[in-house]
Parts: sequence; structure tokens; C-alpha cells
Amino acid sequence: MSALQAILNYQEKDKELYQLERELAASPERKEYAKVRKILDGAPEKLEALETKAVALKTEIAALIAQYEDVVDRLNAMNEDFEHGDELLSSGADLSFYKKKVATASDRVKKLKADLKVLSDDVAATEEEYKALKTLVRSAEKKKVDVAGAYKKVKEEKEPAMNALKAELMQLAKEVPAPLLEKYMAKRKEKLDLPIVGKLDGMRCSLCGMEPSGLDLQKLKEGHAVECETCRRIIFAE
Ligand SMILES: [Zn+2]
Repeated sequence: MSALQAILNYQEKDKELYQLERELAASPERKEYAKVRKILDGAPEKLEALETKAVALKTEIAALIAQYEDVVDRLNAMNEDFEHGDELLSSGADLSFYKKKVATASDRVKKLKADLKVLSDDVAATEEEYKALKTLVRSAEKKKVDVAGAYKKVKEEKEPAMNALKAELMQLAKEVPAPLLEKYMAKRKEKLDLPIVGKLDGMRCSLCGMEPSGLDLQKLKEGHAVECETCRRIIFAE
């Protein structure tokens, strides 16, 4: 039997296994299971990130509050000075200079207030996000056993047929030259849709219709398998 015929035979049987794998992957049970797993697997890292963010924001808020209090204190001191405006004037102080300082400090207070508002909103949003994620995790944890069980059941239903196919494939694999089988398996892992191996049809890849390069055509003529540059599948010339 030619290597091409052997791998095509293998592929023909493998299509049945592929079909079952696809059915399993597309089953609502697996999708639900994958969804729950994704939540549970990703949650700890996300929760930690949110906690870190909240701590950082709160530190920033504390620093701003300190600055705010400092500026307010200064402003109050300046206002007190103003109450003694006459004395200041008589002592030769420049009132417009004081006014400018007060205006600058007032602007600073306004700016700090606005910044604090932004940070507080951010803390609230972060805490909200944290809570929502916690709720999601709790519900995922509750569902976990059930969805895992449902998926296992669907898997077990398909298992006898899949195992039988795998046994048949092992027999068919014996006819296929090892390097070619390896190439096929590697392609299979790439999750390419079957067929993975096809013939050269005239001058074209029978799987995608594109023409291989001159170099590849030469290799094909010499009896080697090549990977189609367009569809990345293995082509053979008879
Ligand atoms: Zn192709």
C-alpha cells in the first residue's frame, strides 16, 4: 500500500473520531462546564488585582486628603490674616499679594476636591466589580459539581465509540510511515478541520484549489509530501 493510501485510510477513519470530538466539544454540557471552569480558574487572579487596585486607590486618597487638609489650614490662616486687613495695611503689607495667595489656595482646594471625587468613584466602581465577581464565583462554585457531572456523563456516553475508533486507528497507523503520521498528528493538534491530507489535483491542492510553488511541485513530483502554503494541509502527488 502506498504511503498516501495508508494515510488516506487513516484519515477516513479519523473523520469519525473527529466528528465525535466535535459533537462533544459543541455539547451544551461541555460549554457550560467550560464556562464555570473559566470563571473559577480566572477568579483568584482577578480578585487579587481588584484588591491591589483598591488598596492603591485608598493610599492615594489618604495622601490627597492630607494635602487637602493642609491647604484648608493655610487658607483658614490667610482668612484670619484678612480679618486684620487694616492692621496688615498699616504695617505696609501688600494685600493684593495675599489675595493672590488665597485665590491659588482656593483653586488648589477645588482641584483636590475634584481629584478626590474621581478617586472615590473609582474605589466604588472597583468595590462593585469585586462584589459582582465574588457573586459570580459563588454561583459558579455551586454549579461546579453538577456541570462537571453532566459533562462527564456526555463524555462517558461517547467514550465506547471513541475508544473503539482509537483502537481501529492504532491498527491503521501501522501502515503509515512514521514521519508522515507525525506530521498528520501535529496538524490534527492545530485543530485544523479534517481532511488534513489531500492529493495534488492536476497542479492544484485538492483541499483549497491553490497552486503550490514550483519548488513544492518539484518535491511532490519526487514523491514527497508538502505542506500547502495556502491551507497549511498536507498534499501528496500520486
Ligand atoms: Zn491547500
